[in-house]
Amino acid sequence: MATATARSLSDAARDYVEAGPHRLLIGGERLEAADGRRLASIDPATGEVICEVAEAGPEDVDRAVAAARGALDGALRKVSASKRAGLIYALAELIKANGAELAELESIDNGKPLSAAQGDVAASVAHLRYYAGWPTKIEGETIPVSGRDLFCYTLREPVGVCGQIVPWNYPLLMAVWKVSPALAAGCAIVLKPAEQTPLTALRLGELALEAGFPAGTLNVLTGAGETGAALVDHPDVDKIAFTGSTVVGREIGAKCGRSLKRVTLELGGKSPNIILGDADLEAAVKGSFLGIYSNSGQACNAGSRLLVAAELFDEVVERLAGFAGEAKVGPGLDPDSQFGPVVSEEQFGRVSGYIDSGLADGAEAVAGGRPDGDGGGYFISPTLFTGVSDEMTIAREEIFGPVLVAQPFETLEEVAQRANDTDYGLAAGLWTRDISQAHKLAALLRAGSVYINTWGAGDPAAPFGGYKASGIGREKGHHNLDAYLETKSVFAQL
Ligand code: ADP
Repeated sequence: MATATARSLSDAARDYVEAGPHRLLIGGERLEAADGRRLASIDPATGEVICEVAEAGPEDVDRAVAAARGALDGALRKVSASKRAGLIYALAELIKANGAELAELESIDNGKPLSAAQGDVAASVAHLRYYAGWPTKIEGETIPVSGRDLFCYTLREPVGVCGQIVPWNYPLLMAVWKVSPALAAGCAIVLKPAEQTPLTALRLGELALEAGFPAGTLNVLTGAGETGAALVDHPDVDKIAFTGSTVVGREIGAKCGRSLKRVTLELGGKSPNIILGDADLEAAVKGSFLGIYSNSGQACNAGSRLLVAAELFDEVVERLAGFAGEAKVGPGLDPDSQFGPVVSEEQFGRVSGYIDSGLADGAEAVAGGRPDGDGGGYFISPTLFTGVSDEMTIAREEIFGPVLVAQPFETLEEVAQRANDTDYGLAAGLWTRDISQAHKLAALLRAGSVYINTWGAGDPAAPFGGYKASGIGREKGHHNLDAYLETKSVFAQL
């Protein structure tokens, strides 16, 4: 491991990375990839290799799916609902107990500030605790059917073996969002973390074993897109849950349509954030700033399109540019860093390309607009564009980086129409002191989450997901539990 990174880690986190190369977790065992392939995990703050992990190929996918099926038909089936609840709760407690190490691993793997990674760990614990409440509340119904002496009831059964493919922006939290409802429903899982950020998913799999889940309940395959594709193509996988780009999501959705696998997709966004003329300006500017630049803009629900009442536009831009100019961008392990680097060299290139495209289209970068640092890490300072038309690429495409476009609007009708003029529909927000106007506008916005006088609020109990090209289905709450259950009607002639 790079020495600069190693020096700043606690013993637990350093021991973990130095124990690499890390093997796959299949059926409770740690295995090298069948073809011996590995991939490197890079620290985005330095561009140096942290450690290597195995890269699973089709043969490993076969083994992991077979291990999951074995658990599902064997030991896992015998685990009672109340015991399953206890196991999920135990996993939550183990994540809490190992939280410091997990946060450090996340910070070096993804680049995010340690404090943000600690927040992700706390959210993961809360999520598992919420779903620990569900196994004992999954109930069927008795149905008053009209046939003579016919008795009908429903059973709710686990959907089966679930392939779960997660992204790199919140590696642990996104994995937990997926595994917790699946575990609550009694499913077995093959989890594939993103190739950029494999470390915390492997730890999650180890901790699930330590919590007492039967071997094979949660298998972890590190690997890249090909590994994910092999999982989607596997005939013995019953359901795919995917979070990632809309491009890959469309492909996965089409494949699952052909094979009739169950599928949920949580995809991209270009979320409008509206500041109305009567808004509490200080709250609106602070909230909008964090709404885009938190996690270095690498959030599917980032508030990436700011629409400001024309009379407030100059003042809002000036205040935002002030915050952006003062923002401290640096390595995640540096306690002074407010924002970390973007996740990878590839992402750095993508975001820089969008900044160039904005400048080439004639938009003005009033803050940022340039890479930072001396070329070691993938740092991009918070960038704010004005002079942006609705047709420009930077106003339409998801950038997934610390880039905000700000545009003025004149009327409420206009702003609702422009806010909805996007292929996406993940999130939207508005800032106003007028309660009635807030709820009227919230009803008009075509997005899976609407934030009023805040941005990014969430709770394990509250559904999250997209309208339109932002996805299919909902994560979190009982909505996501339903996605891991089949309903069986049983008829008995008495
Ligand atoms: P990004 O472009 O932001 O990296 P992706 O959608 O490519 O987002 O990646 C999200 C997750 O999907 C990652 O775990 C990645 O390895 C996986 N993935 C990428 N391509 C495919 C594919 N064709 N089939 C299945 N999974 C894929």
